[in-house]
Amino acid sequence: MKKYKIALAGNPNVGKSTIFNALTKKHQHTGNWTGKTVENASGEYKYHNNIYEIYDLPGTYSLIAHSKEELLARDLLCFNKEIDLTIVVCNAVNLERSLNLVLQILEITSNVLVVVNLIDEARKKQINIDLNKLSKILKVPVISSSATNNEGIDTIKEKIEYYVEFKNKEFYKLQYDNKLEKEISKITKYLDNSLENKKWLSLRLISGDKALITSLKKHTNYDITTNKKLVAALKQSTKNLKNIDIELLVVSNILKECHNIYINTVTNTTNKYIEREQKIDKIITSKKFGIPIMLIMLFFIFWLTIVGSNYPSEVLSNFLFSLEDPLYDLCQIFPDYIRDLLINGVYKTTAWVIGVMLPPMLIFFPLFTIAEDIGLLPRIAFNMDGMFNKCHACGKQCLTMCMGIGCNAVGVTGTRIIDEKRERLLAIITNSFMPCNGRYPVIIAIISMFFIGTTRGIISSLLSSLILVLVIILSILMTFITCNILSKKILKGKKSSFVLELPDYRKIRIGKIIVTSLLDRTIFVLGRAIMVAMPAGLIIYIITNITYNDTSILNIISNFLDPIATLIGLDGVILLAFFLGLPANEIVLPIILMTYLGTNSLTDYDTLTNLKTILIDNGWTTLTAICFIIFNLFHFPCGTTLLTIKKETNSWYYTFLSFIIPLFIGITLCFIITTISKIFILLF
Ligand code: GDP
Repeated sequence: MKKYKIALAGNPNVGKSTIFNALTKKHQHTGNWTGKTVENASGEYKYHNNIYEIYDLPGTYSLIAHSKEELLARDLLCFNKEIDLTIVVCNAVNLERSLNLVLQILEITSNVLVVVNLIDEARKKQINIDLNKLSKILKVPVISSSATNNEGIDTIKEKIEYYVEFKNKEFYKLQYDNKLEKEISKITKYLDNSLENKKWLSLRLISGDKALITSLKKHTNYDITTNKKLVAALKQSTKNLKNIDIELLVVSNILKECHNIYINTVTNTTNKYIEREQKIDKIITSKKFGIPIMLIMLFFIFWLTIVGSNYPSEVLSNFLFSLEDPLYDLCQIFPDYIRDLLINGVYKTTAWVIGVMLPPMLIFFPLFTIAEDIGLLPRIAFNMDGMFNKCHACGKQCLTMCMGIGCNAVGVTGTRIIDEKRERLLAIITNSFMPCNGRYPVIIAIISMFFIGTTRGIISSLLSSLILVLVIILSILMTFITCNILSKKILKGKKSSFVLELPDYRKIRIGKIIVTSLLDRTIFVLGRAIMVAMPAGLIIYIITNITYNDTSILNIISNFLDPIATLIGLDGVILLAFFLGLPANEIVLPIILMTYLGTNSLTDYDTLTNLKTILIDNGWTTLTAICFIIFNLFHFPCGTTLLTIKKETNSWYYTFLSFIIPLFIGITLCFIITTISKIFILLF
């Protein structure tokens, strides 16, 4: 049995991860937008007694390393001698762009298998590709696939088996300008014989690619700065080519070549299907309609989530709480205090979290995945790009904010799609401004109780969704303001240039949406919330039950906080609940109820009317509700998100900023609103 190593390269969003998953039966996240795979992933499969280890490289458009992804992919292809074969995945619908990377890879290695994926989409759009001709031109095997339909996956395995031992010596040669070619050959002479792809290396060295010099040293131990003749020759070449923009020359050469190959192998490239998509794009990304369409979509996503989760949430909560007594009986073997701790502390808190979070997640995540899958998310980012630019932030931040509505920790990890460190930090610090799954159900409940009425009906759910959209608009505005201020004060710097790509629209695949939203998102987020809710339940139970002078520790602290909390329109109980809710935001409301009712464990409520009565009896007014919503939006990220921020930034300083900035905004906004309302009441 032999083991081979295969690299899987390609532009972003061409189906690389889908092919990787189909080959290795793994679950690398797939989605219709650029930049999901930011780290090398690997997996293996067995075929005819041999093992094939696949390295899924981050998607890149070129190997002229400008970004982290490009550098990672380039170094692996260029220096890892163990790679037996490189698969380059192309997009059949946009072959010309894919060829750019194919040609660059062919300059580095000749052991390549080209897979033209998304062939089903090309067929649908009646685009014809002559694969044989393409293979003859490129001098490497070319096959087609439709990875989501499992079409072509077996052929990929067969071809890998056949070509993995077949050392192709015939390189596809890109011919450059005569002057440049002459200089390249001069440099090639001085390069160590052990190095492959000397022409490409020479070209990169002449272009002044400093990252390559570092990579060469790191991966091959070859320090070109010690080779005096080579350094001198490079200096001379730079002098000889001083009036030529080498990078531009190389890129335009490749692009010209790609176009030639494209027109020779692809036919029917403008037809009614392509024109129809262009028309849709014109509307969705237009200055006039783009943002309103986006807000209407957001409104519908919330509306469906609210309407759809009302009833299941109640059924689920009732079910989970009905298990309480039987579980209590079941725990008879334990002493009473442990039994109380387990059932009234750990179980009740966890049941709350599941009851509140699960139903909206089961609706929100599939809707979000649909928007992601058909290609809407990058269009939203495109529409918002201008505004982010004005705040010196990156348009891709919009994508990470969308993810944040699902879960802030996921949003923070998602910021890896932003190359520039400064812009990434802006996105990380402000991500918690987006109300996550643990927070917006509570916001919806407060909106219903205090601003719409607790009766259920289409009007009230529509109004709730509308107010929720307004709340999100407030979050977006605060994001812009904060990014702007941070860019001027703490994270100074210029906006980087990047091209936001609009992917092709793709068909919704129900199966994939269920798997992604259920496995990748719902279970993942819920699992993590449960993991923090359980110990939190334990701690809350303990501080509620330990008393001093007949008052629980919980009450003592909340009484202490009361004067400060009143200044910002809240009360000591609410403020304490937010701090105790650090492990998971969804337990804030139950802690408040538990303290108000003087119970020793989290309290369930039958209806929103009941809940409203409890809150009003404890002094809640419309002002409290407004300040609660604002403080819910802007306080500090939950424990899981903070840990993720620490992991992603590797800095306590930025973790602290992510904690303090939203808290500062929340306190300031609530203070202003409370003071204005007090003045108003005094005057009128
Ligand atoms: P990557 O960025 O290259 O890893 O791309 P992904 O594997 O994440 O795929 C991008 C999107 O294209 C996802 O929504 C996939 O489900 C979809 N996709 C991948 N391969 C195909 C295909 O052959 N046909 C169609 N119609 N969609 C595909």
